[in-house]
Order: sequence, then C-alpha cells, then structure tokens
Amino acid sequence: MFRIRKVFDETSKSNAFAVAQVKEIIKEHFSELDESRIEEISMYLKNPLKYKFKSILFVSDNVNGKVRGFAFLLYAPDLNFCFLDYIATEKKEVTQGVGGAIYRAVRREALQLGALGIFFECLPDDPELCKNEKILLQNISRLKFYERFGARPIINTKYETPLKEGGDNPPYLVYDGLGKDIPLEGDVLKKIIRAILTRKYSYLCPEAYIDMVVESVRDNPIKIRDYKYVKKTENIYEGDRYLNSKIKVIVNDKHLIHHVKEKGYVESPVRVASILKELEKTEIFERVKSESFSETHIAAVHNKEYIKYFKKVTENMSEKTAIYPYVFPVRNRSKPPKELDVRAGYYCIDTFTPLSKNAFIAAKEAVNCALTGASLIVGGESLVYALVRPPGHHAESEYFGGFCYFNSNAIAANYLSGYGKVAILDIDYHHGNGQQEIFYKRDDVLTVSIHGDPSFAYPYFSGYSSEKGEGKGLGYNINFPLKEKLTPEEYKVTLRKAIKKLKDFEPKFLVVALGLDTAKKDPTGTWELTSNDFRDVGKLIGEINSPILVVQEGGYDTRVLGKNACYFFIGLAEDKYRGKVSFIVKS
Ligand SMILES: [Zn+2]
Repeated sequence: MFRIRKVFDETSKSNAFAVAQVKEIIKEHFSELDESRIEEISMYLKNPLKYKFKSILFVSDNVNGKVRGFAFLLYAPDLNFCFLDYIATEKKEVTQGVGGAIYRAVRREALQLGALGIFFECLPDDPELCKNEKILLQNISRLKFYERFGARPIINTKYETPLKEGGDNPPYLVYDGLGKDIPLEGDVLKKIIRAILTRKYSYLCPEAYIDMVVESVRDNPIKIRDYKYVKKTENIYEGDRYLNSKIKVIVNDKHLIHHVKEKGYVESPVRVASILKELEKTEIFERVKSESFSETHIAAVHNKEYIKYFKKVTENMSEKTAIYPYVFPVRNRSKPPKELDVRAGYYCIDTFTPLSKNAFIAAKEAVNCALTGASLIVGGESLVYALVRPPGHHAESEYFGGFCYFNSNAIAANYLSGYGKVAILDIDYHHGNGQQEIFYKRDDVLTVSIHGDPSFAYPYFSGYSSEKGEGKGLGYNINFPLKEKLTPEEYKVTLRKAIKKLKDFEPKFLVVALGLDTAKKDPTGTWELTSNDFRDVGKLIGEINSPILVVQEGGYDTRVLGKNACYFFIGLAEDKYRGKVSFIVKS
C-alpha cells in the first residue's frame, strides 16, 4: 500500500522537499542528463503555459516525506494527449510495487482528463537496436511491465531512428490507449509526435529530423505492436478504466444539530468527522450534495402516526431538554397516551434513545442522503456511500430505538425495490431488527444480518436464526447470530455463507448497512476486526455483482472508525473496479 499524492507547485516546505528528492532520483537514474533538463521540472511547475503542457508530478512518499518514487506527467490540452516524461523509483526498478502503483495513478489521471491516451518513450527490446545485453534485459522487463496495461510501442514509423547514424538504444514511442480500444488516426499521431519532439526534445532533435519522423507516419489508424510478453487476456489492469468514476459520498451535514450531550452517549457527531477526515486523505471519494425527497418515502416504510408524533414532539422541545421514554405499553397498545412526553414509550423499544429537539430534522436528512444515494445507483453508479448519523437499522416501522429514528437503509431499499429486487446485508455488530420487521412479509427485499447473538447483544429480543420471514416473505429473512468471542477468520467464514445466500438471490441492487462496531475495542461490541479485516470484508462483499449502496450505521471507536471505513471501501473498490486501489494513506 502506498500513498501517492499530486504536487502542483513547490510553495510548501513538504512539496519543495519532495521535488528536491525527485531531482536527485532523476540524477541517479539518468546520469547522462544535463542539469538544466532536470531543473525543467521546476520550470514546468511554475510556468506550464510556456511549454504548452500542463504538468502533474505524482509523488509516493512516506510519513516523513521520503520519496520512494515519482512520475512526471505532461498533458497537452490542445491535442488532448498525455506524455509521461519520467517515471522512476528510488531503487532502479519501476516494474515492481511502487512503480506499478504510480503508473496506475498516472493512468487514472489520464482517464479523468479524458485524454486520448498516454505516450512515452521506452528503450527498445530489439537486440538489433540495443547492443548491450544488460540494458536489453532491463528494456525487456519495462516493456513487459507496460504491456500488462495494454501499452505497447507504435510500429511502422521511424520514431526509433537514432539521432546520429550508428547510435545505439533509440527509444520506441509507446502508446497506452487506457483500455478504451479507440483507434488512433494517423493525422492525430503526426501532430502528437511533432508536439512531443518540438516541445520536449527540440534541444536534441533538428527540425529536419522531426519532419522526417512525422512524415514516416503512414498507417491510418496507427498500428501498435502485438502483445509480445503477456496474453491479451492477462491484461490485468484493463479494469483501471472503471476507476475514472470515484465513489460518491453523501454526507448528512445536518447531523451536528442532533447531539445528545449525555455522558456515555456514544452516538456522537465526532463519528462522522472522524470518518470524513480519513476519506479525504484518499482520492477515491467524491462528495455529492444530498437532495430533498418527499416524506412519502418515509411514510412508505414507517407508521404515519409515529412520523407525525416524532415531528410534533420534537418541534415543541427546547434545545436543552431530552425526552427519555419511560413507560412502555407491554400488554396493551390499544391507545397512545395523550401526554406527548409519556407517549415516547409507545413508539420506542428501549430507554436510552432520547428524543431531542433536532432529532427529527437530522434523521430526515439522513434519509435524504440515503435516498440520494439510491437515486444515484438507479442512475448507473456502481458504488455509493451515504455517510449519515443518526443511524437507522434499529428503527422498525413504528418504533425508534438503539440511537435510530428512521430506518434510512430500509427506506432506500424500499425506493430501490421499485426498480428491481433488493438485498440488504447488515454487518453492524447489532441485529438489524428494523429492516427485518419492515420487510418481514416481503419476498422482493431479502434481509440478511450478521450480528452478536441476541442472547447477549442488543436488541436482545430479535436476531435469532429461527426468524425467517412470514407468508410470502418466508425464507427472505436470514439471520446469522454469532458468539460473543469470535476471531476475524470465524467472522469471515460466516460472511462467506451470507454472501452465498445473497448471490443466490441475484439482487438488482445491494444495500449494505455498514456498522463498524465489529471492530476491535469498540465500546459496544465484543469482536476484534482490524482495518485489514475490513478490507477483506469489503473485498468479499464486492464479489456480489450488483451496484452497492452503503449506508452508515453503528461504530463508536472514533480512533479507528475512519481508517476502518476507508479500508472497507478500498476492499470493495478493488473488487468492483477490478484494479488495485493505491491511494491509501498510512496513519
Ligand atoms: Zn451497532
């Protein structure tokens, strides 16, 4: 795992330090290069227009700022192509780990720019062109590395003509079409070659030489060398093209107003901030604003009287008070109590989920976020994250509880069910009793939950494996209650079983109720998942071949929440996009 960041200027101390190290690496790798050519990097960064290239420096450095590798990518907006000027790592080997991660970052950038492709020079693997056997082997390994991305030399041109007669080791011009399989026209290549040679190498190439190379382009479309080292089907990074779409995140920005300032009330606003902080360190997420949805979506899942009560009671409250339910209609639910405060118990399952002045507004906005996510999924997104609190999965059709008021994931699932079969996978440490109850009699929404056995874990009264659904819904609710002490490996064995059930159901959409309270040391759980386990969990879930809406539920150890969420998504994205995700910041 590597952190890769983009450096656009040298104004900050850390950037200046990175650029200085980059220059050192260039010096070491390209000893024949003139000092002034190396200084060009700074010139490009300062004054991109002068060179008709927008420059982007990718640096992989560790927490101390030590650079392990870099790439210097140039983008020509006028001709819409990228030229990879340098890619190098501290050890003289670009084809391993760091180099691969950097090259993938470069490809992703090119995809985001909408470029025709990436062009770069690579020394030849033809013994006729490279007489030195040791260098030839290095050249072969590089070309083999790029071939795995589909990038191969352009053939039938005179690009690899030595500048001086008898010159050895002249570079090929390599083309990476970014997996788009769009043929490149000869005339376009002519312009690109002229731009590369004049903008980049005019100090080396006389005009007549440039004309000669440009005129040598005869094919239309241009021809790329056949695969020489890997089979086309082994082109393992083909999937990188999917990475031009980032994971959309919708954050409930009204969550802050719902703050129960009670000692020990672990469902606190800092939870969202601590997740966001980590997400923002990576480049795989993109914030999207929530939209407003009509309350009919909530009413399609929750009892109308409950919604009305929740709205009314909170409207009349003062900022400073909280109503804790304390009388519960155990034997007789015939009539709700008149007194609003007392009535809380009529709609609640426990004594520790208070009503606060802003609970309704915050919970409704969490629903809006989940619905926005669902609408993006319907619109074709493959992975969306509704980062919300208060959570929702304990909220049943007419009960709040377990810090939950409206069941956002169930409301989103119900919305999605209008477009096809939906499955909900609840991986919170606590049973997803809310969705279970809401969809208990339906066969178009499969509810699956993996959780601590109710014999010792909240909500205590539901979550047993014998609860399988009712009527038409029989067989469409599956519970996996697990023991109190559990290894991450045992957990994953059960997760695999759940995934098998989900796959068999063939849902059009998958909603994941993401609880992070299965983590080691979570104050509300007893299990021991680490960040790497969350990555595995994400990876396994990613095997389900449906678009995924992830809705945030529990998770209360704010020291690790963000990291665990990130790792979960990285695992998920790795599978969804079939490419390694390398934008990870070690913390
Ligand atoms: Zn939980």
